[in-house]
Amino acid sequence: MHAAGTQARSAVPSQTELSPIWHPSPNFGPRRDSLKPSLIVLHYTAMSSAQAALTRLCDPQYEVSAHYLIGADGTLWHMVQETDRAWHAGAGEWMGQSDINSRSIGIELDNRGDHPFSDPLMTSLEALLPAIMTRWNIPETGIIGHSDMAPGRKIDPGPRFDWLRLERQALAASRGNSAPPQDTSPASFRACTQAAGYTADANDKTLLSTIRLRYRPWATGPLTAEDFIPLIPPTTSA
Ligand SMILES: [Zn+2]
Repeated sequence: MHAAGTQARSAVPSQTELSPIWHPSPNFGPRRDSLKPSLIVLHYTAMSSAQAALTRLCDPQYEVSAHYLIGADGTLWHMVQETDRAWHAGAGEWMGQSDINSRSIGIELDNRGDHPFSDPLMTSLEALLPAIMTRWNIPETGIIGHSDMAPGRKIDPGPRFDWLRLERQALAASRGNSAPPQDTSPASFRACTQAAGYTADANDKTLLSTIRLRYRPWATGPLTAEDFIPLIPPTTSA
């Protein structure tokens, strides 16, 4: 997606530098209540190939779509105009707000969910995200996974997605790294997750697995103090 030998990660690339392939999907509508995108939702396709996903996302019979699809080789397809409402998020909630489709841009990543995301795909994503964030004035806290807004119902972009790689480039909210709170009860955990945006309905077990999916995918067993750490915003020293 870039000139040979160059890296465009730190720059904000223009749409022309990205050169997405326009491949329109009929599966979209108007954003409700004149809402503008304030979130970007990341998905994996869970399909055998980008071509299969492209066909599915543009088939009126399935009534699913996304604004963008990125192939494992870095190819970027643009299927729904950013001003329109694509059908990728479904039921769920983030920061107390529902109808995520009306509030977001959806990006599908060509990955089955059980293997690493390719470097060309990540590089394209890292060029696309800042362009969208600039156009709609979306902060890095607005970049979320499908699982974050639909806990228990969706697990994509899944345990293999490299959130830390995005965080290092301010393309996702930085996780906390300081001490956990004194109170490490399930009720305290729920309060921490809600403050971080996880307001969708979920029982304690689902909530824990959803947080671990993003921050500690290797973790197993009951809730521990370690599970709180990524959710605690870094404190500013006086
Ligand atoms: Zn999804």
